[in-house]
Amino acid sequence: VFDSVIIGGGVAGYVAAIKGAQMGGKIALVEKDRLGGTCLNRGCIPTKALVRSAEVLELAGKCSEFGVEIAGASLDVTRVAARKNRVVSQLVGGVQLLLKSWGVEVHTGVARILDPGRVEVRENDGTVAAIETRSIIIATGSRPVNLPIPGADSPGVLVGEAALDIDKIPKRMAVIGAGVIGMEFASIFGVFGSQVTVFEKLPGILPPVDEEMSKRLVALLARRGVKVHTGASVDGISTGGGLKRVSARDAAGNDVSVEADTVVVAVGRRADFGGIDLDALGIERDRKGIVVDSHMMTSVPGIYAAGDVLGRTWLAHVASHEGIAAIRNIMGDDCEMSYGVIPSCVFTMPEIAWVGLTEKEALAAAPTGGIDVSRFPFSANGRAVILGQTEGMVKVVSDSNGRLLGVHILGPHADDLIHEAAAAMHAGETVKGMGEMIHAHPTLAEALGEAFLGVRGSPIHFMSRRR
Ligand SMILES: Cc1cc2nc3c(=O)[nH]c(=O)nc-3n(C[C@H](O)[C@H](O)[C@H](O)COP(=O)(O)OP(=O)(O)OC[C@H]3O[C@@H](n4cnc5c(N)ncnc54)[C@H](O)[C@@H]3O)c2cc1C
Repeated sequence: VFDSVIIGGGVAGYVAAIKGAQMGGKIALVEKDRLGGTCLNRGCIPTKALVRSAEVLELAGKCSEFGVEIAGASLDVTRVAARKNRVVSQLVGGVQLLLKSWGVEVHTGVARILDPGRVEVRENDGTVAAIETRSIIIATGSRPVNLPIPGADSPGVLVGEAALDIDKIPKRMAVIGAGVIGMEFASIFGVFGSQVTVFEKLPGILPPVDEEMSKRLVALLARRGVKVHTGASVDGISTGGGLKRVSARDAAGNDVSVEADTVVVAVGRRADFGGIDLDALGIERDRKGIVVDSHMMTSVPGIYAAGDVLGRTWLAHVASHEGIAAIRNIMGDDCEMSYGVIPSCVFTMPEIAWVGLTEKEALAAAPTGGIDVSRFPFSANGRAVILGQTEGMVKVVSDSNGRLLGVHILGPHADDLIHEAAAAMHAGETVKGMGEMIHAHPTLAEALGEAFLGVRGSPIHFMSRRR
């Protein structure tokens, strides 16, 4: 009898499997496709491999600024794709090795829950077996949703991660949906040289991002060939003569339709139950996905769920932590899943990363005491000037007692820098404490130190406003 059968080998499932094995558990993991799931095969990793190619291309375009002459720097899409695929294969191979080293029994096939103590596995080679188990974790992930408009399912309209398979750089690209996935593709292809038009029905892009930051990003992306229409409604996509026409109106009702070689629809994701009959098993779900308690257990004792199948955060690192919480409880720990401090990153160029509340959310949460907001631009940071990447800023939001409420970074290496702010929030540090912390010089992290200092006083490397 296994301690746990985990269904789905994405970042929720395989991480839970490793943790369970580390805790001495007998674990089976069933994956019908490739280990690593969406994140490694179709999500985080391949998109960021493309972002890296875009960064190299952008740097190559500016190389003479650094005194380096490279004649004829250009993009070879076939090799960009090959590198992306190599990165994916290397990391998927790594997951395979890790699971093997920890003694996890990996099944390649489709799992179906027979009852809380038995999982049927239909292996990809046709054999069928039932595995007896003490517990089950459902980690079957999610899939992209399409738009319910005419033409959205026409051939050549790429839904979500399908945009990863583009084999030539389109002259004109239309992206419908300005969420994280849509904006990352827009940014990548803008830098690759496509003329990109993004349509978003909401008044702003990237809804969870601080508004000041997302507005700045729109301006910075415009320099990279990305045009954004917010408040836009897309009525349909028609195809003909190799081109696709996206019919759309902006907030004022003006026709903002475009013709494009490629249309990417990135309007969100939906929990995927992997063919498991939740109703027959009595597993509660809501509009978003499977419902779990704070210990990641579903309404059926012994059956847990983690990751995108919950339909809540759509983040790989959160999925992994949910998987860990689930297996720790299965293995006898008392572990409540904590969503208190979650760093988030959008890998546009430049990047955006944040943790905690936006300025608007902080204001709404602290109507009486008020909030403090401090900003520090990368143009005043020595390392950013050295790198030639001075776009963007750090923004710190705190309450009247100096408690950190949110930190937002738009600029170079925002994805790594945000972890100082996350660690500070995790440890309950104040802006005063963080402002007193010594930051190494010359680093981008000094911009954070300066922004913390600026909450109550003034950053050092900033002009006095006194005169
Ligand atoms: C283009 C894109 C970019 C992204 N970028 C980022 C990013 O930069 N950072 C970030 O944090 N997140 C990112 N995400 C989101 C992230 O990929 C997901 O949140 C994460 O992969 C969810 O992991 P999961 O394990 O819950 O599900 P999945 O990774 O989807 O894994 C579920 C697995 O279950 C398998 N499965 C389903 N049903 C069965 C069954 N019955 N039997 C056996 N196997 C089954 C599937 O084949 C799949 O492999 C991105 C997503 C996309 C699409």
